[in-house]
Amino acid sequence: MTLDSRLAASYADPSLHAHGLFIGGDWHAGDGIPVLNPATTERLAEVPDASVRDALRAVDAAEVAAAGWRATPPRQRAEILRRWFGLMTDHAEELAVLISLENGKALADARGEVAYAAEFFRWYAEEAVRISGEFRHAPSGANHILVDHDPIGISVLITPWNFPAAMATRKIGPALAAGCTVILKPASETPLTAYAMARLGAEAGVPPGVVNVLTTSQPGPVVNAMLADPRVRKLSFTGSTGVGRTLLAEAAKTVVSCSMELGGNAPFLVFDDADLNAALDGAMIAKMRNAGEACTAANRFYVQAGIHDAFVAGLTQRMAALKVGPGTQAGTQVGPMITAKAVTKIDRLVRQAVAGGAHVTTGGAPLSGPGYYYPPTVIENVPEDAEMAHEEIFGPVAPVYRFETDAQAIRLANATEYGLAAYVYSRDLSRALRVGKGIEAGMIAINRGLMSDPAAPFGGVKQSGLGREGGVTGIMEFLEPKYFAVNF
Ligand code: NAP
Repeated sequence: MTLDSRLAASYADPSLHAHGLFIGGDWHAGDGIPVLNPATTERLAEVPDASVRDALRAVDAAEVAAAGWRATPPRQRAEILRRWFGLMTDHAEELAVLISLENGKALADARGEVAYAAEFFRWYAEEAVRISGEFRHAPSGANHILVDHDPIGISVLITPWNFPAAMATRKIGPALAAGCTVILKPASETPLTAYAMARLGAEAGVPPGVVNVLTTSQPGPVVNAMLADPRVRKLSFTGSTGVGRTLLAEAAKTVVSCSMELGGNAPFLVFDDADLNAALDGAMIAKMRNAGEACTAANRFYVQAGIHDAFVAGLTQRMAALKVGPGTQAGTQVGPMITAKAVTKIDRLVRQAVAGGAHVTTGGAPLSGPGYYYPPTVIENVPEDAEMAHEEIFGPVAPVYRFETDAQAIRLANATEYGLAAYVYSRDLSRALRVGKGIEAGMIAINRGLMSDPAAPFGGVKQSGLGREGGVTGIMEFLEPKYFAVNF
C-alpha cells in the first residue's frame, strides 16, 4: 500500500499504518485501488485489489484458525475483545482523523463514530461469557430437550463506507464473541480504517486467521466465490438494498445464513403538542449526523399543521448556520459527500422536488469544489410523490411535509418499501407510543434524535433488512442452536 505523505504524517502512531491484504495474520502488499480524500479529491493512498484466489486464501486462513478460536475459552475471547476496545480508545484521535480523511465526515462525527465503534468490542467482550443454552422437559414426558449454541462458522462480513469503523466492529464483535472466524471486505472508498483496526486487533491478541481483511475492485465475483465455498456459513452485509437483494439471491445457491442491514427512509414525525426546541434539536441530530449519510437519517419530516411553519423556520435557521468544509478542518460541522456521484444524486432529487412545486428555504444547489460539497438544505411543500420521499437522499437535505391527523401521519410514515428507523416527537407519551406501534420500522426513537446504541438491537423490517446487530440479539446471528433429545 502506498500512502500519501500528508496522510502518513496525520497518523500520530505508525502502528496504525497497514500494508496490504491481511490474510492469516500476514500483510500481503499490493495496490490497484486508489483511496481519495472527498474533501479535496486528492489521492490519499492505494490499497491492494484482491482476486478471487486471494479471497479463497482468506477462507483457507479462516478455516485453519476456526477450530482453535472456537475452542478458546469465552473468557479469553472476551479479554482479547476488551483489549481491542482499549486499543481503539487509546488510538481514538488517530482513527478519527483517518475516518475523516477517507470518508470526509466532520472530525466531531468521526470521534463519535470511534467511540461508538469501540463500544461494540466492549459490549461483546461482556456478552462472550453469557452465551446460554436451554433445558426443558419434553411435553410428552418422554425425554429432555437440551439446546446448545454453536458458532455458526466462517463468516463473510461486508461493510459500507458511511461508518468505516462502526459497521465493521458491529459485525466483528459478535462474530468473535460467538467463536467464529471472519473475512471482512470493507467498502473500496474507506478501507484504511478497516486495515488500521486489523493492526490493533493483532496487537490485542486476535490470533492469525481469526480476522482477515481484503479490499477488491470486483466485489461481485470475489464475494460470490466465497459464498460458493461450502466452508463459508454466514454472510453479514451492511449496504444498499439493491446490493443486498443480489447477495441474498447469491447466498441462496449454497443456503448461506444471511444478516442484512440495508437502506432506510426514516420518517421524523412532529406533533402539535411536541416541545418545538427539543424537536428541532433532535431533527438536527437525526438529519445531520454524518452530514445525512446515515441509514437512520431522517429522510422525511412530517410536521402537524399547527407547528409546521414554526418548525420550518427553526430548522432553516439552524441548518443555514452550519459550517461546511473539510472534515479535518477546525470548526467544520458538515463535511463533503463521499463522491461526485452522491452530489449529483442529491442535486437531482432536489431539482425534481422543486419542479414539482417544492420551495427551498436554505441551500438547494451544490457548492463549488474541489471536493464534493452540498450545503445543508431545507425544502418545504414537497409533493408526496416526489422521488425524495421514496429514495434515500443520503445527504444534508431536509424535506418537510405537512400533515393533519395521527392516522394520516402513520399512513405517510409507512408509505415506503423501507422500515429501518422512525422518530416521533410529542409530549404525550401514550400518543407517541401508539403512533410508534403503528409505524412499520425496526427502531423508533421517541423524543430523541438518535437511537444507535451497541446495547440495543439495531435493524429493520420490510426491505431494510433481516436480523439485528448489537444488543443481546446481535450475537445470535453468529450462533446456531443445536438440539439434543436426551434420555437420562
Ligand atoms: P453498497 O453500494 O451496497 O456497498 C456496500 C458494500 O457492498 C461495499 O463494501 C461494496 O463494495 C459491496 N458491494 C457492492 N456490490 C457488491 C456485490 N455485487 N457483491 C458483494 N458486495 C458488493 O452501499 P454503500 O453505498 O457503500 O452504503 C450506503 C448504503 O448502506 C445505504 O443504502 C445505507 O442506508 C446502507 N447502510 C445501512 C445500514 C444499516 O445498518 N441498515 C448502515 C449503514 C449503511 P465496494 O465498495 O467495493 O463497491
